[in-house]
Amino acid sequence: MFSRGHTVLVEEIPLEFKPGKAPAAPPTSALSMSWAGTAAFTLKYKTTTLLVDPFVTRPQLPGILFLRQRVNEELCAEVFPRADHILVGHSHYDHLLDVPCIALKTGAVVHGSTSTARVCRAAGMNCGRVHEITPWQPVVCGEFIATFIPGKHGKALRGRIPFPGDIVDKPNLPMHAAAYKLGGMFGLLIEAGGLRIYHCGSGDLIDDEVAKIGKVDVLIACLAGRQKSPDYLKRLVAPLHPSYLIPTHYDDFFRPLRHVFRFIRGLGLEDFLDERKQVCPDVKLIMPDFFDTLVFDTEKNRLLEEQPG
Ligand SMILES: [Zn+2]
Repeated sequence: MFSRGHTVLVEEIPLEFKPGKAPAAPPTSALSMSWAGTAAFTLKYKTTTLLVDPFVTRPQLPGILFLRQRVNEELCAEVFPRADHILVGHSHYDHLLDVPCIALKTGAVVHGSTSTARVCRAAGMNCGRVHEITPWQPVVCGEFIATFIPGKHGKALRGRIPFPGDIVDKPNLPMHAAAYKLGGMFGLLIEAGGLRIYHCGSGDLIDDEVAKIGKVDVLIACLAGRQKSPDYLKRLVAPLHPSYLIPTHYDDFFRPLRHVFRFIRGLGLEDFLDERKQVCPDVKLIMPDFFDTLVFDTEKNRLLEEQPG
């Protein structure tokens, strides 16, 4: 595995693009996890495939500013060929745009806010496959249990939370990116066997809510838009006591997935790595490449292996 944690000064890292590669057959207690850029993850445990914020269309500038956003259906099908359940932490386009397309192709059930549900229904999803979540109410997603934890979005756009508010009912798709309003912000507690994963999909948090979660094994922490959230990592790590830290949402998602990797502008990765050294030097930092597969043992709650994508 190529660990970007030790090569923070490298601006561009050539990547091989091998989406959809099946990992080797894991033991029955194994959970596999792979990253597809932004906050998008594929988790597999026993018979269930769970997607989190799947997004690969990655529209580019300047079209992202002016055009109604269409989904790259071919790429969605290639990267996410199977899904039983999809969790959507908030409704911005870089978390929600591709979700209805993937769900319609795979038959997955989508779990998210009212805004997420409105977009899914407008895209033609059967109402029975769209679940409007209740915060803190655990949802059985096949072999996983998912709980939506109230959160706070990072002030990622000129010091403000981008596109606040809700998506209108019966939205006219395709929509402009700016019409994908926040629609509520949720962190995702994902449990499988004895393994607990917390996916913080934006760069801020509500401390009192995170404090109620308890210890997790894996913390997936969004780096984009965290700069206006003082002590972001410390405030996550102190209550959650993770064994593993997987930074996410640090890639430049205005570039196509097939393109050479580049960090998003203004990321401050070195600051983050410094903060991590101070706050939690004993927590194992993992920075996978796109489509690397991490395999965790859900009984012993530890990383078994890292397979290149
Ligand atoms: Zn967002």
